[in-house]
Amino acid sequence: MEFFGHIIDGEESGPAGPIADSVDPWTRSAWARFPVGGHEQAGRAVAAARRAFDEGPWPRMGFAERGEILHRLAGLVESRAAELGMADTRDMGKPVAQSAGNDVPRAARNLRFFADHARMATSQALPMDSGHHCYTRFEPAGVVAAIAPWNFPLMLGTWKIAPALAWGNTVVLKPAESTPASATMLARLALEAGMPPGVLNVVHGYGPASAGEALTRDPRVDRITFTGESATGKAISTAAAANLTPVSLELGGKGASIVFADADLDNAVRWSIKAIFTNAGQVCLAGSRLLVQRPVYDEFMARFVEAAEAMVLGDPARQDTEIGPLASIEHHHKVCGYLDRIAAEGGKIRTGGAGDGWFVRPTVVQDAPFDSGVWRDEIFGPVVAVAPFDTEAEAVGIANGTRYGLNGMLFTTDLNRAHRVSAKMRAGTVWVNCFFVRDLRAPFGGAGDSGVGREGGDFSRDFFTEPKAVVLQLDH
Ligand code: NAD
Repeated sequence: MEFFGHIIDGEESGPAGPIADSVDPWTRSAWARFPVGGHEQAGRAVAAARRAFDEGPWPRMGFAERGEILHRLAGLVESRAAELGMADTRDMGKPVAQSAGNDVPRAARNLRFFADHARMATSQALPMDSGHHCYTRFEPAGVVAAIAPWNFPLMLGTWKIAPALAWGNTVVLKPAESTPASATMLARLALEAGMPPGVLNVVHGYGPASAGEALTRDPRVDRITFTGESATGKAISTAAAANLTPVSLELGGKGASIVFADADLDNAVRWSIKAIFTNAGQVCLAGSRLLVQRPVYDEFMARFVEAAEAMVLGDPARQDTEIGPLASIEHHHKVCGYLDRIAAEGGKIRTGGAGDGWFVRPTVVQDAPFDSGVWRDEIFGPVVAVAPFDTEAEAVGIANGTRYGLNGMLFTTDLNRAHRVSAKMRAGTVWVNCFFVRDLRAPFGGAGDSGVGREGGDFSRDFFTEPKAVVLQLDH
């Protein structure tokens, strides 16, 4: 069985102390083991990152030199795409076409983009009428704790660490306990790429009363970037407040797709299917609420259900698999719990339901009241609630009727409507006639229970640096 250790100060730990298994959701048996870190290991990782920041070369290098190492790391990630992709697949059941085919290239792109973004960034010159001159500097914040979820282990891990590293910070990355493998593999590759020891540390463990919580309470940590559940975000925010540590929180979502009667229906069906069934719905951005204007409701639903039923479920290691098992037995129980309650809440499963093993088939729920679980909660599975609507205002009202505010999708060929509705949606990202298309310069994050702050491009720079104003008196 493979072993994925902590990587602290350039050294990978062996199987000493408490060890846990990572279970492959397809075989439902352990495929790898990892050490369960706690307060002590998190503390050692922070100490190593602190030393590397306070005394090491990394923050003192030029952007070009750091960028070169990050690009080298991106190249190594690309060259090990099959291995890295398979690690995420075995850890959490994601089809390999999505892990190796999408997440790994995206991870490399995160590294390359932020390396280049930092190198090419400018600061502001602020000439003052008073005979003074002001300019800004963006200095690395220090030690960054990056706490990642299990749904896109490598892709989201790199989304957090790439800007932090590019701006000269040092990092302790804690992957989710169910997806330890790719984080260790990434840190091994970082050393191979020439990143100095202590710059990227990985510590494994759980959240509460474990490595995760220890990182959030450590006063030597200067920034916490977290992606995960909204309830965890609140706990982390509370812990971080004791040290006034700034947090960036990318949390849950309950995205709505609105299909207007004038939409290109083929396009709307294609993207709405991707929006909810990619990664078996285990996506913060999932379009788990689908609103369809009444004149096209029946036709759209017939095509949508047909497309959902045509999806290929199976062994996630096969290239043609579109939906793998859910990530864990606990998660399968949670999602199936929602399905079990649908009838009692007044809804009807039009297609789908629980499958074999830890599978849930693409599930379409209709007639459920808007205050029922399937409309209200982030189920984080391949389950979509659908309803017809009549007016634009009604659709916007339903879409905004959630405590989340991460994203929304709308499908229309009316340009004015596209802009008007985009402006009215309470969401960090709105996609018009598409889904999941990202420009890494754009702000990413959400309103309400979907998070605090934004990352991406300059937004990442602002979070991972201490912006400084320098004011000079000019001789006149
Ligand atoms: P989670 O909150 O259970 O865990 C995320 C990470 O936090 C794990 O590494 C976990 O060990 C750690 N953790 C848990 N409790 C902690 C604590 N008290 N202190 C410190 N660390 C702690 O989330 P998950 O189940 O791994 O991921 C799924 C969630 O992530 C969903 O809600 C999803 O919407 C969200 N998500 C959001 C985005 C986004 O960008 N907004 C992206 C992906 C996933």
